[in-house]
Amino acid sequence: MNTMNTIECARNKIASPLIRKISRLECQDINTLSKNISCGKTVILKNKIHNLKKPCAIGRGLRTKVNVNMGASTEVSSIKTELKKLKISIDYGADTVMDLSVGKNVRKIRQEIIAHSTIPVGTVPIYEAAQELEHKRKNLFKMTKDDILEVLERQAEEGVDFFTVHAGITKEIIKKIPYKKRIIEIVSRGGAILANWIIHNNKENPLYEYFDNVLKIAKRFDITLSLGDGLRPGSVLDATDEIQLYELRKLGQLSKYALERGVQTIIEGPGHVPLNQIEKNIKMQKQICHGAPFYVLGPLVTDVSSGYDHISASIGGALASYYGADFLCYVTPSEHLRLPSIDDVREGLIASKIAAHAADIAKGIPYQIDWDRKISQARKSRDWTKQIKLSIDPVKAKRYRSQSKLQESSVCTMCGKYCSLKLIEKCF
Ligand code: SF4
Repeated sequence: MNTMNTIECARNKIASPLIRKISRLECQDINTLSKNISCGKTVILKNKIHNLKKPCAIGRGLRTKVNVNMGASTEVSSIKTELKKLKISIDYGADTVMDLSVGKNVRKIRQEIIAHSTIPVGTVPIYEAAQELEHKRKNLFKMTKDDILEVLERQAEEGVDFFTVHAGITKEIIKKIPYKKRIIEIVSRGGAILANWIIHNNKENPLYEYFDNVLKIAKRFDITLSLGDGLRPGSVLDATDEIQLYELRKLGQLSKYALERGVQTIIEGPGHVPLNQIEKNIKMQKQICHGAPFYVLGPLVTDVSSGYDHISASIGGALASYYGADFLCYVTPSEHLRLPSIDDVREGLIASKIAAHAADIAKGIPYQIDWDRKISQARKSRDWTKQIKLSIDPVKAKRYRSQSKLQESSVCTMCGKYCSLKLIEKCF
């Protein structure tokens, strides 16, 4: 095992095979990539011991990445279904997956996902720590820092590439939550578990108090920490409130502290944000967190889109990534309503990928713009095979085309013999 982690290689100007591979994949020269990794503006998600076909870099000057959340719940649990979700995520171009399993078989599901995944796998270890106490029929409040660190260590040894740790939700911050002003105090699952624990025990968040221990594990395995926003707004009316920004400042401090100790971090962000506050949110995060990659959960631009939250998140995600967010967490049509089905995963992923790609065009990433050029050329020449192949969802595009009853194969049923592309074909 290479003893140097990614930041150390970048700082020592060592072009490790991983850095070289990312440089090729992202069309970014090694010096720029290494410089951005050294100062925490770019991260590479890959556990040292995880044999990954497609490691993923997130950050400055790179294509916007998309994560798929998956995993069983306490109500619905099937390893087979979760593996199908993983397959569809990889087939449709997800950059990472997060296994958020709780309930039965947590460990088995994670191990299977890691074994079958060609892309980085993230987790929220506090879920498993809470789950283990339940198995032992112990109260959640009895969780100790060793219970948490043991789970982190075990998951690191299994090959998890990035951890969400809600280290910013401190005892001090919880006292500041404006219970009467916020519509929904806490919507983050990890945030709620920790807030409950802190309030009940009147003690500091172990992930914050023992952050050095967390860093040691992360450094040893080259795991990236995703600093979770336990107090993210769960309603557009709570967006950008004081408590959200208070936690963000804490995450900025933790990110700097981790970077100084050679651990890569990304910062998690909201949540539910009205359109007119997205730019401000991204710019503040970049400033407060010294340019660390920003991982936004959506954001949803309205609270009323139940059943269509993937569209709401796609609108927010496009704008957020245009203003500088680096990593989008997808949202499915079933958000707020049920555990996503396999179809929900596909729809949510495509919606987020469209958002990410739209932003990448606007950001001027040349090879992303080239994709649009190629499909437009195929469209002009009515090369349906090529057009379908270049579509973001070739399966759906092919199905739509093949379901048409065509009288003439050189046009489509939209305009038929008045196909503008055909009419002007010989004019220019
Ligand atoms: S028929 Fe109309 S929609 Fe279809 S390819 Fe021609 S111009 Fe485009």
